[in-house]
Amino acid sequence: MKISNLKTEEVVKKSRKSRCLPLSGGLWSDFPFLSSAGKIFLQLFSFFLPRECPLCGKMPADGRENFFCKECLEELHFVKQPVCNSCGGELTGILEMCPDCLHTKGKRPWKKALSLFIMEGKVQEVIYRYKYRNDTSLARPLGMLCAEKLLASDIHADVIAYTPLHWARCLQRGYNQAELLAKEISKHTNIPIEKLLKRRRFTRQQATLGRKERIKNMQNAFCALSREKIRNKKILLIDDVLTTGATLSSATEELLKKGALEVYILVAARRQSNQNVF
Ligand SMILES: [Zn+2]
Ligand SMILES: [Zn+2]
Repeated sequence: MKISNLKTEEVVKKSRKSRCLPLSGGLWSDFPFLSSAGKIFLQLFSFFLPRECPLCGKMPADGRENFFCKECLEELHFVKQPVCNSCGGELTGILEMCPDCLHTKGKRPWKKALSLFIMEGKVQEVIYRYKYRNDTSLARPLGMLCAEKLLASDIHADVIAYTPLHWARCLQRGYNQAELLAKEISKHTNIPIEKLLKRRRFTRQQATLGRKERIKNMQNAFCALSREKIRNKKILLIDDVLTTGATLSSATEELLKKGALEVYILVAARRQSNQNVF
């Protein structure tokens, strides 16, 4: 496991701070003239103030509740043009496809993929905390940004779906990060969310495998829960990270097999082939 720029326990603790501001020190030390009653009043009032940036505790950008602050936003690597439509990553050469997609000869079962971030620097920290450190407060800002990306695109989906976890993995982690993200995206776009897929079997963690093993590990990994809800629908499939695309390919193939009209992909981060894997 190799995580660069990951700030250990301190950052995680910060993100779990109470919604209330502390009664002494911090903000209140700027108001020494306030009585205890005044401080209590302000503390209660702080429920209505924008909740702090989940990464650093500063005031969130644009006054949005529980959103990243301006400085943190500037450190996150948003996908920039030109973009590989096959995976949603960035293009670095003169070709219209990134090296990863050239590897699959552009054969992706979905119609188009969008990615919010490139997996590097602070984005790695965000995804690691979201996925492995129980920091579910990150679902909201990530979902808001993904929703904005979707609304600015030419994708018009009838329904939002997400890659499911095996029940044992879900029990171990306590939540499905793709599902939480999908719920936020649904909330901000008004596109209904449906549980359309489940895992057929327990699979090894993709992060521990190489490209070929990942594809093999994911073959026939999903089964559809309702043919009715899939047939003739344009489905947007959500996941947190797209690396080789093996998981999302397998999920997309199952949806197409059950009659989906089109499948689109939206992920929080695209990890391109020269990037660290965890
Ligand atoms: Zn911040
Ligand atoms: Zn690509």
